[in-house]
Amino acid sequence: MKQFISILFLASYCLLAGQESNYPLGYFQSPMDIPLYLAGNFGELRTNHFHAGIDIKTQGVEGKKIYASANGFVSRIKIQHGGYGKVIYIDHPNGYTTVYAHLKSFSPKIDSFVKKKQYKNKSFTLNWYPESNEIIVKKGEIIALSGNTGGSAGPHLHYEIRATKSEHALNALLFGLPIEDNISPTIRGVRIYPIDDESTINGQPKAIYLEAINKQNILKLNSIPIVSRKIGFGIETLDKINGSRNRCGIFKIQLKIDQKVIFEQKMDDVPFEESLYLNAHTDYHYKKTQNKWVHKSFIEPNNHLSIYKISEQNGIVNFNKSGFYNLEYIVTDVAGNTTNLKFQVNAKPLINFAKKPLHKNFAKKMMYHHENEYNSKGFLIQIPDSALYNDIDFKYYAQPHPKTRWSDIHFVHSDLTPLHKSAEIYIKCDFPSIIPENKLLAIRKTSKGKIKVHVGEYAVGYYSFKTKYFGGFYIFHDTIPPKIKPLNIYEGKDIRFQNKFDFRISDNLAGVKTYNCYIDDQWVLMEYDAKKSRLTHYMHDRISSGKHRLKLIVTDYVENQKIYTCSFSN
Ligand SMILES: [Zn+2]
Repeated sequence: MKQFISILFLASYCLLAGQESNYPLGYFQSPMDIPLYLAGNFGELRTNHFHAGIDIKTQGVEGKKIYASANGFVSRIKIQHGGYGKVIYIDHPNGYTTVYAHLKSFSPKIDSFVKKKQYKNKSFTLNWYPESNEIIVKKGEIIALSGNTGGSAGPHLHYEIRATKSEHALNALLFGLPIEDNISPTIRGVRIYPIDDESTINGQPKAIYLEAINKQNILKLNSIPIVSRKIGFGIETLDKINGSRNRCGIFKIQLKIDQKVIFEQKMDDVPFEESLYLNAHTDYHYKKTQNKWVHKSFIEPNNHLSIYKISEQNGIVNFNKSGFYNLEYIVTDVAGNTTNLKFQVNAKPLINFAKKPLHKNFAKKMMYHHENEYNSKGFLIQIPDSALYNDIDFKYYAQPHPKTRWSDIHFVHSDLTPLHKSAEIYIKCDFPSIIPENKLLAIRKTSKGKIKVHVGEYAVGYYSFKTKYFGGFYIFHDTIPPKIKPLNIYEGKDIRFQNKFDFRISDNLAGVKTYNCYIDDQWVLMEYDAKKSRLTHYMHDRISSGKHRLKLIVTDYVENQKIYTCSFSN
């Protein structure tokens, strides 16, 4: 039996070494003692970033043991409301760093350091870089319990391996973790793009999507598109890994024309500072409108991702000679499983192409490599150089001032166009004198009708703020303080028999900014779970017995404040 198990283990091990790896195989032990099933993998497409780690399923629950993958020292501990929640970074002597995120709690040894820092800083959130001799850990030492903190949507461990020096996230599956994968990637379809004003597809200057259809185990497209001039291609593809139904990311995409590879991307290493270029790499508009993730196999002018290994003419093909061309997409996962799709295009270069008419709200041509500015009555936007991924026909219009809003509504281009850097917007506003200036805020309406808040500042008749999104904007206010609802504490309560007390806190518009709790005027730690709007005090054993006075102060982003006080006994 033992032999059988080791053969099985070796088999899966080999599968993962399917891609040639330059990394130390087997140096890092699994961070968990349960079978590894993945809810996500490296390079997977996520909102505004490529997924930098692997998401290990924790059997639907929190509180599973998390082990240090190798000897090393804790080099960073971060606690934040969103993002990675509670996270530990361990530096190892071989030049790599392992990262363990969305933790429920730290081991008692690590937690004692963390609590000291939190009380010193009077803050639940933390970003601490311990010295190399402060918190030493051994391979296999329990460092934490798994959880669901931060931006996590369900209990799991987010695990990363990074190069310590460059801080680049690496594909953790290239390090020989025992994860089996013999399922080939799925190709769902191909999208074809006209690149410039002279390009057409089936006679139109518009992108098309062709679904991939499985005919007797061969993937095909249903039709042969007619293309003219400069064309780009994109592919909707994903991967599945054994034992999990989750959609994962692919490792490599190649595009061939007449047997020649003209484009190749590989997800082995994505520097964090490049991750937002995901919005240029994928078809942002198509994702927002059709909910399909398409990898573009051509490179937008202001896309500086380093995942492209081959990109002839930036992946753009100029079909200026008539005839049929044979194309092939080859998609590979990290275990070396491959799926391919062969298709044809019929090139018929047009002389008389249909010119795209200008949009009725066209305001200005904006060049991606320039600083851009546009102003209209009571409105100004400044967009920094290289904030756009390519040149755009900027659109703008305004609707007049409704009674209960303090400015016109300004429809600024379209939130289906991504921005790489923040733009600055100035909006003229006019509000009743009973509303203090510092309670103003900007509201953005998304194309899906959602409301987002931007806090900026008011000066000489204009409210200004930064935003990474286009959309519909107007000026409003928030004068309502946050709400505090005590859940298991009240005036005169005896809390001797409970191990924690909680509050539910919320804010109507600007959002909760700070929360501070004092017992007999001494600051005490409250853990904030933003997803559940819950504030909890756990270290109840620190409070001496007897009568105490509690004061909780919560503020929002425009300085509205709510105070709750009560006496309790312990
Ligand atoms: Zn993750």
